[in-house]
Amino acid sequence: MQEQNEGFHAPGLQASLLFETPVEIYTRVFRDFKPRTPAPSVRVEFCRFANADCFVRLEDGAIHVRLSDLFEGAPAPVMEALAFILLGKLFRRTVARIYSHRYRLYLNRKDMRRKMHLVRQIRGRKFLSDPRGVCHDLNEIFGHLNDRYFHGLLGRPLLGWSRLASRSMLGHFDPSHNAIVISRIFDREAVPRLALEYVMFHEMLHLRFPVDHSGARRRVHTREFREAEREFERLKEAKEMLKHL
Ligand SMILES: [Zn+2]
Repeated sequence: MQEQNEGFHAPGLQASLLFETPVEIYTRVFRDFKPRTPAPSVRVEFCRFANADCFVRLEDGAIHVRLSDLFEGAPAPVMEALAFILLGKLFRRTVARIYSHRYRLYLNRKDMRRKMHLVRQIRGRKFLSDPRGVCHDLNEIFGHLNDRYFHGLLGRPLLGWSRLASRSMLGHFDPSHNAIVISRIFDREAVPRLALEYVMFHEMLHLRFPVDHSGARRRVHTREFREAEREFERLKEAKEMLKHL
């Protein structure tokens, strides 16, 4: 008897591929990377991470994959793309762009972004210190910049100093917790207030201009963002100060 659904599949695509389990996907992708090595045993586990993190490691000749449970029930082509990305990382091989693109498209989907947002909000911990530092009060600086550049219209997010005086992460806006965190490096007598104001202003613009998610892209500093940033007084001087922290 002929299969009822015969002819539904695109030519060349084996029906069996559509019903692969995650373990079968990883085993097949492994063979793709290392055709002459016998495929090791594979274990795939879904974990309740606070974000979309995924990890893979080789242990006692077995492959252990830990995926964020955000990917539980992801379509097989997305699981396949993720398998190529993770095993590619493990074996230090470049992965065809079609896979990274497919993966990003999936994460950029509105429903996925909403899920990630919720997961960060619920599972992520946020340590926020007192906005009043030793030398500067972030509440006061926020208020001043809000009046000066935003007609006082920006809603006040949570404000806090980072735990470490980081030079690489000067500030960030966390939309899941509606918080602006400023590096503690600015809470010093020697650091000019203008430099701190500029970093705060930049993060306030992130509050004002949402991230652009079109297609597989994720554009944080949009054109509108850049234009608004140019309105900061003494911008050049402030940027120069950041180079000499
Ligand atoms: Zn930024």
